[in-house]
Amino acid sequence: MSSLKDAVTTTDFSAYYKHLARGKVRELYEIDASTLLFVATDRVSAYDVVLDNGIPDKGALLTTLSAFWFSTLTSRIPSLKTHFISLDMPAKLVGTNLAPIAEGRSMQVRRLKVVPIESIVRGYITGSAWSEYKKSGTVHGIKVQEGLQESQAFDKPVWTPSTKAEQGEHDENISPQEAANIVGQDIADKIERLSLELYMAGRDYAAERGIIIADTKFEFGLDVSTSPPAVILIDEALTPDSSRFWPSSKYEVGRSQESLDKQPLRDWLVTNGLKGKDGVAMPEDVVRSTRQGYVRAWEMLTGKGWA
Ligand code: ATP
Ligand code: MG
Repeated sequence: MSSLKDAVTTTDFSAYYKHLARGKVRELYEIDASTLLFVATDRVSAYDVVLDNGIPDKGALLTTLSAFWFSTLTSRIPSLKTHFISLDMPAKLVGTNLAPIAEGRSMQVRRLKVVPIESIVRGYITGSAWSEYKKSGTVHGIKVQEGLQESQAFDKPVWTPSTKAEQGEHDENISPQEAANIVGQDIADKIERLSLELYMAGRDYAAERGIIIADTKFEFGLDVSTSPPAVILIDEALTPDSSRFWPSSKYEVGRSQESLDKQPLRDWLVTNGLKGKDGVAMPEDVVRSTRQGYVRAWEMLTGKGWA
C-alpha cells in the first residue's frame, strides 16, 4: 500500500496576513477589513478533542466540498447568500513557499458577525437526539411524533439549535425558544426557515447520489451594513465534519448506521478507552480508514474522482 503524504496540522501565514483565530480545524487570517482567509487544516477532532496527528487531504476535502455546496445550493435557492468569495490563492502568498500549503485548503470569504448558535437540522433520528427521544419522547425539548425507531426519518425535518461553545467546552442542545432568547426572535425565525430549506435542498441532491444526509449543522453570519441585517450562510456546508452521511445502499431502520465521516476514529477511541483524552495520536490504519470515508463522501457527492 502506498504511504500517506504528511498531514498539515498547523499553518503560519502570519508573515503575510494577520492571524485572527484558531478553531479546532481552521485558522482564520485577515486579508482586509471585510475579507478573511479561511484555512482548513488537516486537524481532526472527536468528542471535542483535537487529535495529535491529522488526516492527509482533509482540509482540502472540506474546503472544496463546501465550495461545491455553496455553488449547488445557490443555484437551487437563488435568494441564498453565502460568505464564499473564491478559492483563489490570496495575492501575497502567490509564488511563496507557503502557497503549496494554502493551495486547495483555503477559501477567501466575507468577514461577518457570527450568529452565536449552531443551526442543526435533523432529517433522521440518531445520536444525541435518539438518546433524548428514548427517555422523554422529545428532541431538544420539542415534542415529536411517537413510535420512531432508531435512524428513522422524521415526518418533517426538525430544527434543533445548539449553543456555540467556547474552545474546550461542549455545545449544548437548546430549544428554538432558547435560541430566540439568544439571537432574537426575528433572526431565529429566519435562520430556522433558511436552515430547513438548505437541508432539504442538500438532502434531495445527495439522495440522487446515494447518500442520506441524516443531519447537519449550519452557521450564519450577519451583514450589518444593510437594514435589517442580511442572514448569510458562513463556515463550512454539508461536509462530513458538519453532517452525518449514510450510504443509502446500507440504510436499515432500527439500528445505528455506517457513516462516511469520523466513525472509524470514534470507534477506535471508544474501543481503546481514549474517548475525550488529550494527547492522542491515531495509528496509520485509523488515519487511512477515516480518510477513505471523507474521500468517498466527496466523490459520491461531487461525481468526480479525488486524486
Ligand atoms: P467553533 O466551536 O467556534 O465552531 P470550530 O472548532 O468548529 O469552532 P473551526 O471550524 O476550526 O471552528 O473554525 C472556524 C471558525 O470560524 C468558527 O468559529 C466559525 O464560527 C468562524 N467563521 C466561519 N465563517 C466565518 C465568517 N465568514 N466570518 C467570521 N467568522 C467565521
Ligand atoms: Mg467548525
